[in-house]
Amino acid sequence: MSSSTPTQFGSLPSVYDLFLNPSMQRRYTRCPRCRDVTSLKRFGFVLFLEGRGLVTVGATSRICSKCKLVILHQDVVEQSLGPVFPEGFEFFGPEERRQYYTPIGTLHRRAWNKVKKGDTITYLDLQHNTADFRDYVFFPQTSRTSLLLGFDSA
Ligand SMILES: [Zn+2]
Repeated sequence: MSSSTPTQFGSLPSVYDLFLNPSMQRRYTRCPRCRDVTSLKRFGFVLFLEGRGLVTVGATSRICSKCKLVILHQDVVEQSLGPVFPEGFEFFGPEERRQYYTPIGTLHRRAWNKVKKGDTITYLDLQHNTADFRDYVFFPQTSRTSLLLGFDSA
């Protein structure tokens, strides 16, 4: 009972760190942290939307089961969120768009299946079935971006 932070939402134990991947080109078939091979997994994510509160969104992500890293592609999650965002959202830059939402954690499969079926889920249900992300990590994109843009790296 010592290390829970005041900002914790979900009641389930945290398992995964999250990397919100801003690159549309780079899909991380290998983990950027431990270099192990990643696999695809579809999760129900719980997100906090600026001015709107909590929402759930299904998205296929890369996962490294060795070091417990979920790689959520920014463009994939934003595609699902698109309709609820302000007019012109798609024209914002990735950094601007990123300000509108915070991925909080993953939803337990049982609860996610309920949501997918269209069943209503209460706030308490959501809380009891969410595992917050343990930590948020970021990996610099620069070298590959330079490469794609044709910059001379020498
Ligand atoms: Zn890893």
